[in-house]
Amino acid sequence: MNSVLWFHAPVILFFCLWVYALPGPCFNVSLMDFMETDTQRQLRDLMRKFATKTMLPQIDQDEREERFRPEWIRALGDLGLTGIVVSEDDGGAGLGYQEYISALEELAQVSAGYAISVAVTGLAQLILSRFGSQSQKSQWIRALAEGRAIGAFSLSEAGSGSDAASLRTTATRDGDFYVLHGTKQWVTQGDSADLILVMARTGGPGPLGISTFILEKGIPGFRLGKREKKMGCQVSHTMELVLDQVRIPAENRVGAEGDGFKVAMTALDSGRITIAAVALGVARGALDVAVRHAQHREQFGKPIGEFQGVSFLLADMAVQLKAAQLLVRHAASLRDQGAAFTQEAAMAKLFATDMAMKVTTDAVQVLGGSGYTQEFPVERWMREAKVLQIVEGTNQIQRLVIGKRLLEPLV
Ligand SMILES: Cc1cc2nc3c(=O)[nH]c(=O)nc-3n(C[C@H](O)[C@H](O)[C@H](O)COP(=O)(O)OP(=O)(O)OC[C@H]3O[C@@H](n4cnc5c(N)ncnc54)[C@H](O)[C@@H]3O)c2cc1C
Repeated sequence: MNSVLWFHAPVILFFCLWVYALPGPCFNVSLMDFMETDTQRQLRDLMRKFATKTMLPQIDQDEREERFRPEWIRALGDLGLTGIVVSEDDGGAGLGYQEYISALEELAQVSAGYAISVAVTGLAQLILSRFGSQSQKSQWIRALAEGRAIGAFSLSEAGSGSDAASLRTTATRDGDFYVLHGTKQWVTQGDSADLILVMARTGGPGPLGISTFILEKGIPGFRLGKREKKMGCQVSHTMELVLDQVRIPAENRVGAEGDGFKVAMTALDSGRITIAAVALGVARGALDVAVRHAQHREQFGKPIGEFQGVSFLLADMAVQLKAAQLLVRHAASLRDQGAAFTQEAAMAKLFATDMAMKVTTDAVQVLGGSGYTQEFPVERWMREAKVLQIVEGTNQIQRLVIGKRLLEPLV
C-alpha cells in the first residue's frame, strides 16, 4: 500500500497544487456574481479560460526567468480582451469599464504582471482616443486594441515621481520636429512597447509646461537603460529610457502644447480603476487558496478553519474584499455613465490595493510555513500586491486627491 502511494505521490502532489492554484471562487460567499451582467460574466469566463489554460502552467517559471511573452498579448487581442473599452470602429469591443474590470480581475489572479501590461496599453489607448489626432488614431488604436501593438506610458523620472509635474526631460521645437532629451524611469514594458506616450517639458516649470509625445520603437537617439530588479511582477519589465537628442516629427505631439500633464492625469484617473481591479484579482486568489487550506489542513485533530482565530481572519478578508469590489465597481459604473469619478477612482485604488496587501499577507499566515514557500502562489500575490500601492500614484497621493476634492468647496 505504502509503495503504491509513494508511486503516485508526484501525481497527488500535482493534483493538490493544481486544486490550490486553480482560480475561481471556492467559498460560499458569492462576491461578485450578483452585480455582474451576462457580458461581464462571459468576459470573465473567457479570460479565466485563457489565463488558466495558457498562462498558469508557465507563469511561475516565467516569473523566475523574468520572461514576458508578447504572443500572449496577441492571443488576448485575438480573443477581444485587449480592447474592451475601445470603440468598435477602432477595433475594440466598445464596452465599458465594468466589463474591463471583470476581465482584468480574472487575469490578475493568474498574473498581476500581465494584467498590468494590458492596463498600461489601455492608458495608451485612452490617451490616443481622447487626445490623439485622426492620423494618430488610425495608425495606432486598432493595433493596440487588437493586441498587435503594445503601448507604454512614461511620466516618471528619477527626480519626479509623486511630484510628476517637476519632470525635467525636455522637448525643444525645431521646425517641424521636436528634439527630446532626458532620461525617463520606471517605464512598464518600455522594452516591448511599440509606442510610448512620453511626457516632456516644452515650456516653463510646473504642469503647464508639459506636453505628450508618441515615441516609436527604434527611433535614433532612443535607447533602453537599466531594467529594474524588482520584488515581484517579474514578467512585467520596468525600464529606464534614455532619450539623447531624439528628433520626432511635430505631428507626434498628442494634444496641444502644455496639455501634457492634463493628458497624463486624465489617463491615470481611469488607470487607477484598472489597478484597483488588479488588486481585486490578487486578493481573491489569495482568499480562495486560504479558504481551501483552512478546510483541508488539520491541526489538533481538526481542520484549522474550525479554529475561530483562523475563521475570523478569513471572515475579515472576505469582508474587505467585498467592500473593495463594491468601491471598484462603483467607480467603474460612474465612469461608464459619464459622471465625475476622480475621487471614487482614487478611493477604489487606495482601498482595493491596501486591502490586497492585507489579504495576501493574511493568506500567507493562514497557510503557515507553506505560505512562505513558493509551493503556493500566495507569497507571489503578496509581492504583487505591494507594487499596486505604489504605481499610478502612491496611496498617499490617492489620499491627497481625495482630501483635495473633499475640501474643494471650502477653499
Ligand atoms: C514596478 C513599477 C512600475 C512603474 N511603471 C510606471 C510606468 O509605466 N510609467 C510611469 O510613468 N511610472 C511608472 N512607475 C513609477 C511610479 O508611478 C512611481 O514610483 C510613483 O509615482 C511614486 O514615485 P516615486 O517612486 O518617485 O516615489 P516618491 O514620489 O519619491 O515617494 C516616496 C514616498 O513619499 C511619499 N510621498 C511623496 N509625496 C508625498 C506627499 N505630498 N504627501 C505624502 N506622501 C508623499 C510617497 O507616497 C512614497 O511613500 C512605476 C513604478 C514601479 C515601482
